[in-house]
Amino acid sequence: MRIYNTLTRRVEEIVPLEPGKIKMYSCGPTVYRYIHIGNLRTFTMADWLRRTLEYLGYEVFHVKNITDVGHMRHELLDRGEDKIQAQARKEGKTSAEIARFYTEAFHRDEAKLNILPAHVFPRASEHIPEMIQVIEELLRKGFAYEVRGYVYFDIQRFPGYGKLSRNLLEYMQIGIHEGSDADRRHPEDFPLWKPAEPGRDMAWDSPWGRGFPGWHIECSAMSMKYLGPHFDIHTGGVDNIFPHHEDEIAQSEAYSGQPFVNYWVHAQHLLADGQKMAKSVSNDYTCAEIEARGFDPLALRYLYTTALYRSRLNFTFRALEAAQIALERLRERAYDLWLRADQERALRSLEDEEQPWRLAFRRELENDLNIPRAMAVLSAMLRAPELDATRKLQLLLDFDRVLGFDIKSYLMSEKPRQRREPQHSQHLLPAELAALVREREALRRQRDYEGADALRLRLLQRGWKVSDLPEGTLVRPRRLSEEFPVLSRWQDAPDATQLPSRYAFSLNLLARNNYKDLERCLDSICRHANGHSLEVVVIENGSTDETLPFLRELARRAELVGANGEQLALRVLFADHNLGFAAARNATMRASQGAIIVWLDTSVEIQGDIWTPLEQTLADPQIGVTGPFGLITEDLREFREESGPEVDAIEGYLFAFRRALLNEVGWLDEKFRFYRLADVHYSFFFKAAGYRVVVCPEVAARLIRHPHREWYSLTEEERRTKSKKNYDVFRARWHHGQSLLVAYCNPAHRWYGHDHPYHLEGTHSHGPGELPPPGVMHSHEHQHWPDHAHSHPHLHAVQTV
Ligand code: AMP
Ligand code: ZN
Repeated sequence: MRIYNTLTRRVEEIVPLEPGKIKMYSCGPTVYRYIHIGNLRTFTMADWLRRTLEYLGYEVFHVKNITDVGHMRHELLDRGEDKIQAQARKEGKTSAEIARFYTEAFHRDEAKLNILPAHVFPRASEHIPEMIQVIEELLRKGFAYEVRGYVYFDIQRFPGYGKLSRNLLEYMQIGIHEGSDADRRHPEDFPLWKPAEPGRDMAWDSPWGRGFPGWHIECSAMSMKYLGPHFDIHTGGVDNIFPHHEDEIAQSEAYSGQPFVNYWVHAQHLLADGQKMAKSVSNDYTCAEIEARGFDPLALRYLYTTALYRSRLNFTFRALEAAQIALERLRERAYDLWLRADQERALRSLEDEEQPWRLAFRRELENDLNIPRAMAVLSAMLRAPELDATRKLQLLLDFDRVLGFDIKSYLMSEKPRQRREPQHSQHLLPAELAALVREREALRRQRDYEGADALRLRLLQRGWKVSDLPEGTLVRPRRLSEEFPVLSRWQDAPDATQLPSRYAFSLNLLARNNYKDLERCLDSICRHANGHSLEVVVIENGSTDETLPFLRELARRAELVGANGEQLALRVLFADHNLGFAAARNATMRASQGAIIVWLDTSVEIQGDIWTPLEQTLADPQIGVTGPFGLITEDLREFREESGPEVDAIEGYLFAFRRALLNEVGWLDEKFRFYRLADVHYSFFFKAAGYRVVVCPEVAARLIRHPHREWYSLTEEERRTKSKKNYDVFRARWHHGQSLLVAYCNPAHRWYGHDHPYHLEGTHSHGPGELPPPGVMHSHEHQHWPDHAHSHPHLHAVQTV
C-alpha cells in the first residue's frame, strides 16, 4: 500500500514497524459542539485508510482522541474563554456535562456514517497525569522551561522543529501560537502547561500550580501511551499540520529520543461557498441538519468518494442530492442482484482473493487511497457481462468492506421492500393520506379514472407520488426539488427586475429556523393588508427545523388571504442551503414585482396601516430609502438610533425603497453572510447614488419589534467574530464616505442623481452635444460628492444639460 506522507512529501510504500500490524492514531473532535460534515470528511478518510489496511490483511490498532479540555487555538481568540466552559455557561451545564453530551453525539454521528469505532477513544481530561509526566521529563531534559505557572517548549533546543510543515517562518510571522508573549523566550515557543484563570472549572493541580495542559501535549501523551513512542500512522485534517502536529513531533521526539510517527496522512478540507467549512463562518452543517433535510447520512459518505482525499471538495446540496440518488441506485442494483442471486453463496466471502475485479479494486486503493477510481472499478464491475448475479453481489459486498455503504444491512432491512412493494411503501404514509389512497383504489376499481386522477393530484400536492402496480398502489415521498425549483445561488431566483410592477408592495422576508416569528409576521401582514395590493416574497434559506415543511405547505397554497378576504400574492423561494444574508436578500429582490420593495425582519409585527405613509414618503423622487428606524454616525464606527428625518441609514427591521432603483444601486455584496451592517451598507448605496435616506415616523408607531432571535441565539464570541467580518467589508467600501454622512453633508453639494444639472460644479463628463437621447441607458463617471465619484448606468428623463 502506498500513501502520501506529509513528512517526506512523497507517496511511499507503507512498511509497518511490526510485520502484519499497523498502529494508527487519529486526531479526534473537540467536544463543545456538534461535529460538522467537514470534520466527518476527515474522519471518513481515516476510516477508508483503516478499512483498506484491514482489507489488505493487516491487523490495525486504531486510537482516536477526544479533546474534552477546551483550548484557544489562536492568539486572536486568546482573550476568550475556554470553549467548552463558554458553551457550558450558555447551556447552563457543567463543562463535564457538555463534554459528555457532545462526545455521545460524536459517536452517534460516526456510527451514522458507518465509520468503524476506534479501539480506544482516550479523553484528554482522563490523561492529565500522563501529560504532566511528559512535561516533567521535557523540563528535566532541558527542552522546556517554566515561567510563572506556564511551561513552554523551547523550540530552539529541538533542531528538527519545522520538518513537517516546512514553511514555518510564514506561519510564525502571523503569530499563530497561543499564549501570552511577555514570558516567552522566543515568540514561537508553545505552551505545554498554562495556569488556570480564576473561575475555570477544567483545571488540575500540577508541579507548576493549578492549571491545564496545552492543546498539543494531549495527543503526544495519549498516542505514546496506547501505541508506544514510535508508531506507524497519524492522521488529521490539513489544518492540523501546523502548529498541532509539528508541536506533537517536537514534544514526543524530545521526550523519547526516538522518531515519533512514520507516516503522516492529512485530509484536505471540505469547503462550502468557496470557504473552509467552519462554525465561525456559519457555512457548517451537522449530520442532524443533513438528515432534517431528508438526506441519508450515508449519502455524505458517497459524496466524499467523489474526490481524492488530498483534494479540496466543495460541498453543495445539489451535489449531496446527486450522491443520494447515486447511492439509492447502487442499493437498488444490489437488491436486484439479491433477488436473482444464490443468496447464501453471495453472503459468503470471496473464495478467490485474486479475482481480477478484486485485484483492480485493490490496485486503486493501494495507489494512495484512490477511492474515486475504486468507485469507478465498482461501477464497471456491476456492468461486466461475464459475471453472474451471485458473483457480482459477492464482489460488491467485498468492496463494501472498504467503501462502507453497509449494503448488507440495507438488503436485510425493510427499506428495499418499502421502495418496491405497495403494502410496505404505505407504512410511511400519514393516516389521513392512507385513507385517500384507499379511496382512490376504490374509484379505480369502479373505473372512475377522473375521480382517481383528482385524488392523485391531491396526494401529489401533499408531497406524495403514487404509481399503480398490479399488486396495489406504490407511494413515495416527493423530493423538494421535484416539487419546486431549488436555488443554489441567488442568481437562480426568477428575474423580475425588467418586468413591470404588478403590485404596490413586495414584502421580502427571510426564513431560516424561525418559523414562529415568520408565522407571526405573516399573520400581521394579512391582518393589516387593508385592501392594498401586496405581494409576499419569502426565501427559505436552508432551515433545518419545522420552518422548511411550514413553507413547503404554504408554497403549495400559493397565496395568502387578508383579514377582509383579499388575496395576497405569495412567492416562496427555496434555497438548498444557507446562502447567507445578502444573497438571500438579493434573491427575494430579484423575484419581486411590487413597485416598492420592503425588507421586513421576521421579528417585526405590523399593527396598522404602514402602507400609506411608506407610499407617501417614497413618492418624493429624491428620497431613496425609508423606514421606521434610522441610524446616525459621525465616524462610521458608532451608530445611534435617531428620529431624523434625515439619517445615514435605515435599519433592516423595515427597509423600503422603489424597486426601480435596483438598476441604479445594484445588489448587496455577498460577503455579508450575516445581517449586521448590511442595512447600513445598502443605505450608503442609495446615498452614493444621490438619494436621501429618511425616517418615516408614522410607521414606527404602527409596528412592534420583538426580540431579534438570530442575535439572541449567538454566543458573545460568535457575535463578535461575525460582526467584525461584516464591519471589515463595510469599512473597506466606505472609509472615504464621510461626505455622505448627515453630520458632514453640504446640501449645496448634494447630487440628486436623476437630472444632470445637479452635478457638482465642473464635473460633467459629457457636453450637451454628446448626451444620448432621453430614455437611453448609458454609463459614465459621476462626481457624486467631493470625495466620491463612480460610474453607474442611468438614463435622462429630459434633456437638461
Ligand atoms: P476539531 O474538532 O476542530 O479539532 O476538528 C476535528 C478534525 O476535523 C480535525 O482533524 C480537523 O483538521 C478536521 N477539520 C476541521 N474542519 C474541517 C473541514 N472543513 N474539512 C475537513 N476537515 C476538517
Ligand atoms: Zn491531535
